[in-house]
Amino acid sequence: MNYSYVSHLYCPKCSQTYSTKEEHHLCPCGSPLLVAYDLDRLSRNFTAEDLVKRSPDLWRYHELLPVQQKENVISLGEGMTPLLSMNTLGQDMKIPNLLMKDEGIIPTGAFKARGASVGVSKAKELGIKEIAMPTNGNAGAAWSLYAARAKLNSTIVMPVDAPRITRNECALAGAHLFLVNGLISDAGKIIAQAVQEKGLYDVSTLKEPYRIEGKKTMGLEIAEQLDWQLPDVILYPTGGGVGLIGIYKALRELIELGWISSDQKLPRLVAVQSEGCAPIVEAWKQGLNESSFWENSETIAFGINVPKAIGDFLVLNALYETDGCAIAVDDASLLKEQERIAQLEGTFVCPEGAASFLAARRLKEENWIKEDEQVVVLNTGAGIKYPDTVDCEVPILEPGDSL
Ligand SMILES: *Cc1c(COP(=O)(O)O)cnc(C)c1O
Ligand SMILES: [Zn+2]
Repeated sequence: MNYSYVSHLYCPKCSQTYSTKEEHHLCPCGSPLLVAYDLDRLSRNFTAEDLVKRSPDLWRYHELLPVQQKENVISLGEGMTPLLSMNTLGQDMKIPNLLMKDEGIIPTGAFKARGASVGVSKAKELGIKEIAMPTNGNAGAAWSLYAARAKLNSTIVMPVDAPRITRNECALAGAHLFLVNGLISDAGKIIAQAVQEKGLYDVSTLKEPYRIEGKKTMGLEIAEQLDWQLPDVILYPTGGGVGLIGIYKALRELIELGWISSDQKLPRLVAVQSEGCAPIVEAWKQGLNESSFWENSETIAFGINVPKAIGDFLVLNALYETDGCAIAVDDASLLKEQERIAQLEGTFVCPEGAASFLAARRLKEENWIKEDEQVVVLNTGAGIKYPDTVDCEVPILEPGDSL
């Protein structure tokens, strides 16, 4: 039995293949690279029942992950997050079978930990010394903390407006941290130049192939937690779209493995964006295979403020292939939804997660989601990472006052 059944890298655009034994970033044709596994051999050696006794973290799926030597795994216990019933909120939306995959309780408080764990582990396996990335906050926090655990250096550039806590996490982890007076796309240009000049290992979204493998474990977990019966709809707050691409990839691999039967319909995947930054929604509405740069993007849901995603064609393909859709919601309404969720369900979701719940509500109103359907919403992070999105006025008492 191998620890990993990884076989090679391939380009989804031009089909060129590459080895996983050496460093690769984008294909020369400009496309991100994806990881392929020897699923045929794995399906003969291993079954879903073998998972039962594994540890409750994403490395339980190590055969379907790219790290070849167990000793290279850098883990903080990420993964196997709860899939919670949201009964009261579901009644309120008239989607009784509403579930939340809650990534708010993962190390670093955002699901970026999944991509960081797998990406940093693989970087270590490849002998990398220093990683570099632009970030809207959560990815930089996760990657610099996991890099610290792996004894790798990290260089991070993030917008000055990124959530302050993520800045502190990077600094505390000892990253070479810089702020840019601009957007993640501006940070990206600065990193690209530094990568060229200083030979750093570029771990920008989809510029290394392994982050997506970490994020795909959300799809593996949802399937396992539902006993290999897929839900009807999965909603995902989409920035770079890595999670959505990953979930789609996971479901395809599970079908190929025979762990879910091929006559099961894949869930309709929904890309949720903010009205202040909705390039994927715009492209989907027009039936296009690529998005255009979204000028002057702005949203409080910082994790989905990505004006142009390098993997947009993969996101759109996943939407088309699953009869999914893309939908944008406004910031004011998503904040109201965030409050409603806290009051009805006792959970403080992040703004990106709240956007996805609101999208479910809207799609039910439009009858795109039916009342009898099972719907999974990804809450990609903890609300407590964004304390400033909550505005509250609280009466202040003097000692001895009564209520
Ligand atoms: C990064 C991020 C997203 C978007 O993730 P992608 O996979 O890049 O689309 C959503 N929510 C939160 C909290 C994030 O940090
Ligand atoms: Zn290519």
